[in-house]
Amino acid sequence: MRPAVFLDRDGTINQEVEYLDNLGDLKLIKGSAQGIGMLNRAGFPVIVITNQSGVARGFFPEEFVNHVHAALSRMLRQEGARVEGWYFCPHHPEAGNPPYRRLCSCRKPGTAMVKKAAGDLDIDLGMSWLVGDSFSDLQTAWNAGMKSILVLTGHGRRTVASLGLRDRERIEYVAQDLLDACKWITGVSER
Ligand SMILES: [Mg+2]
Ligand SMILES: [Zn+2]
Repeated sequence: MRPAVFLDRDGTINQEVEYLDNLGDLKLIKGSAQGIGMLNRAGFPVIVITNQSGVARGFFPEEFVNHVHAALSRMLRQEGARVEGWYFCPHHPEAGNPPYRRLCSCRKPGTAMVKKAAGDLDIDLGMSWLVGDSFSDLQTAWNAGMKSILVLTGHGRRTVASLGLRDRERIEYVAQDLLDACKWITGVSER
């Protein structure tokens, strides 16, 4: 069993555009590929976990999410960065129609995506990190017993402003962006 770094997608790796529904809007946040490359070289498997309720809401089909992940994977690979696993939740508890409208355990802050990845890739969650820009990312980390990092990109500034003191104390690090988070993770793990 080994530690991994779990990453949120929108607002963490690529720019937040609220329900990304065309590949033309897919833009890496500056430094994302460099940061993921650092994690790769430090030996961490990098795993993306993302809520995509746009599927349940009927904004785009489930297949489109796979296209986005293939495109993002290509963009990262061109800059020497590699993601080992892509997991998404297409559900929403209230929006749209069944089968996508349902109470699931994969939608963050649920932990089913993290647990599936941990089983698939032999990951020790207690030693792993989750980096994201939303409160639900932090909650996912805490619910799964992982270390949490908040990035200030995407919704991050809004998230940090809304945190109570207790929540703030549970976060390992508040990073400017993903690159900053990756530098911090690789720095800490060297000590
Ligand atoms: Mg996000
Ligand atoms: Zn789900």
